[in-house]
Amino acid sequence: MYTILKDKGFTLATADENAEYIVVNTCTVTNKADVKNRNIIRNAIRTNPGAKVYVTGCYAETDKEVLQNIPGVFGVFGNTEKSSLPYQILADWEGKSYSQPPNLDRFSYSDVLPEGHTRAYLKIQDGCNRKCSYCKIPAARGLGVSRNYGDIIDQVKYLQDNGVGEIQLTGVNLGWYRLENGDKGFLNLVEDILKVLEYSRIRLSSIEPPDVGSGLLDLMQHPRFCKFLHVPIQSGSRKILKDMRRTYHPDAFRTRIELAKSKLPNLFLGTDVIVGFPSETEVEFQETKQLLIELGFAKLHVFPYSVRKGTSAESLGDPIPGDEKKRRVLDLMALSSELHTKYAKSAIGKTFEAILENDGRLVTDHYLKGRLPETFPIDTLQKGQFVDVRCEEYFPAKDKEGEFLFTFAR
Ligand code: SF4
Repeated sequence: MYTILKDKGFTLATADENAEYIVVNTCTVTNKADVKNRNIIRNAIRTNPGAKVYVTGCYAETDKEVLQNIPGVFGVFGNTEKSSLPYQILADWEGKSYSQPPNLDRFSYSDVLPEGHTRAYLKIQDGCNRKCSYCKIPAARGLGVSRNYGDIIDQVKYLQDNGVGEIQLTGVNLGWYRLENGDKGFLNLVEDILKVLEYSRIRLSSIEPPDVGSGLLDLMQHPRFCKFLHVPIQSGSRKILKDMRRTYHPDAFRTRIELAKSKLPNLFLGTDVIVGFPSETEVEFQETKQLLIELGFAKLHVFPYSVRKGTSAESLGDPIPGDEKKRRVLDLMALSSELHTKYAKSAIGKTFEAILENDGRLVTDHYLKGRLPETFPIDTLQKGQFVDVRCEEYFPAKDKEGEFLFTFAR
């Protein structure tokens, strides 16, 4: 959105300036996200008198009325109308009536080069056809839709030709990607993307457990495919997974992760976990914790359960007290730090390909982050450039990921 407006002369307001237009892009994955959104919107209105405040994103899709009733909100655009928002702002600025540009759809944002050309997100899919009992995403994003196959390949070439180092494929449910005529699916797409990659590398944002199979893992052997998988487990208990209406059980999850680890040495494994689901007792929580330890994840994203309006789990209420959920969250966050440190230590002495980020940090294909020694002449490297680095030392940090000290290998 900003790139479209920047081309027309708009600039980003600093925190001290009074903005004329404000766009709040919302999330609605948890109750906490909704509360945060409303606070951000009210704060933006209060601190920018006279600004026209537009709200878009998932919360705007599911709770339009709530947002329209906040005094000072100028416009609310759900996900399906999101692509038109910068053009609506432009029309308002020019005092013209809005007319929709041709070929505008919900994948219209991707022709944008990232600042510094380091990493770009390429959305290939949106929406979800599953019905996990806790999840509001299908309501916010609708049923699965896939981006045009040829457009994706063209976009990969465009990003690569413009020197973007890493292209991250994103979507709500990547493995669901398929063309309507059933001709080609996600694996065909990835295979064809790999054929055009010479310089850039690709990374998957997240992939559902049933999609982690030999087909994908064999493609991941490709040198331009980052050795990184984020596979949401949500729970390690068979009973809770059933109540969550997930489509796998812990043994099947374990088999898939073990296969991934055997085919891809040093694979970085991340996952999402929900704690405090209404039927989760201490027994099920411990089952989850044990499985997370056993599978050796490198990073856990932990969420306390919150009731989402319109989901099938809404009828179960929210019987687990907030303090208890908090205890389980903190317990798993501490586990996440431990697991990350263990994974990081296993990388010491190894060499990986890393990309130089805008802030001077380097990120390897295995998603290890760190810096070169202060004495290294970093100015001799360009932002977005690939270099091989050796993991020398790891410095853990409290409640967040630590950082590596790398040395320059090539
Ligand atoms: S797979 Fe389940 S959790 Fe993920 S978006 Fe679809 S319904 Fe939500």
